[in-house]
Amino acid sequence: MSDHIITLNAGSSSIKFALFALDGGEWPRMVAIGQIEGIGVSPEFEAKVDGKKSKRALTGAETPKNHDDALKIIIGWLGETFPDAKIAAIGHRVVHGGPIYSAPMLIDDASYKVLETFSALAPLHQPHNLAGIAAAGRAFPGIPQVGCFDTAFHRTQPFVNDTYGLPPEHYQEGVRRYGFHGLSYEYITARLEERDPAALRRLVVLHLGNGASMCAIKDGKGQASTMGFSPLDGLLMGTRCGQIDPGVLLYLMQQKGMNAAQISDLLNKKSGLKGMSGVSSDMRDLESSDAPSAKQALEYFVNRIRRELGSLMAVTGGADALVFTGGIGSNSKFVRGEVLTGMEWAGIAFDPAANQAGAEVISAPGSAVKVYVMQTDEEAMIARHTIRVAKLAKAPALA
Ligand code: ADP
Repeated sequence: MSDHIITLNAGSSSIKFALFALDGGEWPRMVAIGQIEGIGVSPEFEAKVDGKKSKRALTGAETPKNHDDALKIIIGWLGETFPDAKIAAIGHRVVHGGPIYSAPMLIDDASYKVLETFSALAPLHQPHNLAGIAAAGRAFPGIPQVGCFDTAFHRTQPFVNDTYGLPPEHYQEGVRRYGFHGLSYEYITARLEERDPAALRRLVVLHLGNGASMCAIKDGKGQASTMGFSPLDGLLMGTRCGQIDPGVLLYLMQQKGMNAAQISDLLNKKSGLKGMSGVSSDMRDLESSDAPSAKQALEYFVNRIRRELGSLMAVTGGADALVFTGGIGSNSKFVRGEVLTGMEWAGIAFDPAANQAGAEVISAPGSAVKVYVMQTDEEAMIARHTIRVAKLAKAPALA
């Protein structure tokens, strides 16, 4: 029997999972990763062990009706595949820790109830994250459940980057700039601290994936995020619009008669790279498309990043390093090249050959700003937090 940790990331119709072995190292070792997608639609189970992927449809008696059923299938598969694994704790990705939770924590009945109140702040994600915690609690009674919040990293940002220009009662009731992708930013800063601690002094991280945001970091602490009250703000994303004048929303309501559900659908699902291009939300499709609308969407995507880079570097007072991460940031040479070309004014000397070669450092030798390309690993961050937090004797008090 050896100790293991399960990490779970429950979405509206999916549960992503990973299994980590605790070998005593600073970073736990991932032994399996997978997901059940399409819960309630056409569910499929997918897993990867030792680099080998397997995928199958879940039909007949196996069809999961809800998160509890899906988790049972995952646990059953883990038990069959790793019969010696003993589960010491379960770590959960939770999108919202509200204004109060600034660190991962043990989830007990009281903190679960507090997290439920944050569902109003993140209605598309929080209820599903909580359903995952409840299902795991039923499947593993007595095993510590640890919540890791995507907002936590940003709780160190100063008031001016945390607020909107509204009367203070709105800030008090929770209308704040929370920022998201915090687990990715924590992972990147933790890895960079091992590799190049001086880079943490003034750092901008570009997490460019299907969801995309950027974060200004000073002395390892979050200072400002392009995402705000919700994950809609900031950069253009796969299907989300990013920054928009609230006057547009008023226009859509007052002149076009759109209701909240229609506007939400437009901003969250019908905009972004997909909506602008009419081609795809996938960066690879756009890079290989000849459609003028795809070119325009790419230009806008890059333009938003460059403008936000200038803005975040104003927060950090220049940068010692930039890090590109996320599916696009770590893979797209095209996007990195477009973002970094002509940025000498900011002290960024770009090395196109290193970028083309897929190097880890793509700034030129002697560049005042060092530019890294790194893979993020939110599951590893959750697993590491879970080890630390599960050792606590009892859940921490509310902050
Ligand atoms: P999510 O936010 O869903 O976690 P990811 O971080 O996995 O998203 O990023 C998905 C994005 O990464 C997609 O737009 C995909 O096209 C892009 N991507 C993945 N590989 C490449 C590649 N080799 N070149 C360009 N883009 C890529």
